Formats: sequence, C-alpha cells, structure tokens
Amino acid sequence: MLITHDTRCALDTVVDLVNTAPEDDATPDGLPDVAALEVFVQKHEVSEVGVLTELDLAAVRKIRGRFAAVFAAPDARSAAGLINELIAAAGTTPRLTDHDGYDWHVHYFAPGASVADHLAADCGMALAFFVVAGEQERLRRCEAPDCRHAFVDLSRNRSRRYCDSRTCGNRLHVAAYRARRKEAAG
Ligand SMILES: [Zn+2]
Ligand SMILES: [Zn+2]
Repeated sequence: MLITHDTRCALDTVVDLVNTAPEDDATPDGLPDVAALEVFVQKHEVSEVGVLTELDLAAVRKIRGRFAAVFAAPDARSAAGLINELIAAAGTTPRLTDHDGYDWHVHYFAPGASVADHLAADCGMALAFFVVAGEQERLRRCEAPDCRHAFVDLSRNRSRRYCDSRTCGNRLHVAAYRARRKEAAG
C-alpha cells in the first residue's frame, strides 16, 4: 500500500501517543502535564494548535484511550467502528496541501481544530486507510507480556510480533533460552 509522508507521520504520532499511556497504576503517565503535551506536539509537528491548556490535555488523554482500543481491536469491523467514532467526533475538513515542499496530500483536521480533534481526524484517517487497504492486522500490540506497546507492522510479510525486536524480541528469546538451559540441566 502507498504510505505518504503524512500518513507515515500520523502513524508515528498515534503510536507514540498510545504508548504514553501508563501500563498500570505503578507506571507514570507519559503525558503528565500540559508541558509534556507541548513537547509531544512539537516533536510530531502537530500544526495550528495554538496555546495548549488543561482541557487539551484531558481531551488528548481521552482520545489516546480510544486509539489504544483501535490497536487492540480483534478484527477490521471493530476497528472500523472505533475509527468512525473518533473521526465523527473530531469533524473533518479534507483539503489538499503541498506545505513545506511535500507533494500534494490531504489534511483532514478542521481549521482551528483543537489538538485532540486534530489528532483524532488526521491519525484516525491514517488508520482508516489501513482498514480500507485490508491491512488492519498491521495495527498491533507488542506480544511481550510485560510490554503491550502499540506499533504498526510495516514488514513485508506482516510477521513482526514485538514493538522493538532489539529489546522486547531479544528479552523473550533470552528468557526462552535460559528456560531451555535450565530444563536441560535439571
Ligand atoms: Zn501535511
Ligand atoms: Zn514491546
């Protein structure tokens, strides 16, 4: 499937957003305050969002939970339902743009949209195209039991199981290797 610059950015953004959620009560929130949200917005070049407030933070955390559900969706139909809700709540104004020297592509967020609506519209549409392309199963959560991070599997044969194979994949391999050694020795 064709993945344009903006789709790629939107995917990176939504994966990063979902992974700021605390995994349990013991882990801190990756978006603890408005300052952290500002850093997030700058890092991902989310444009035209204006001055951020506590309301923005609360709204972004809310859609974060809804995006997390998309990555945990068992099939395309349930993912589609969740994505439709996200996009409908945000409202969209599709328009062509070639800003900053990028080729023509479509922005979806409404002019003047809040940061939460901006993310819901543009990241929601990026995920929608995965469902359209029959690629919903590429939207995954890491299979390492103590991780569960969201990621997009862009491998050719959709074989990726871990968010970052260097850490999560290896950690599991080492654990399995040790368990086998122990069994062999015992
Ligand atoms: Zn753009
Ligand atoms: Zn992982």
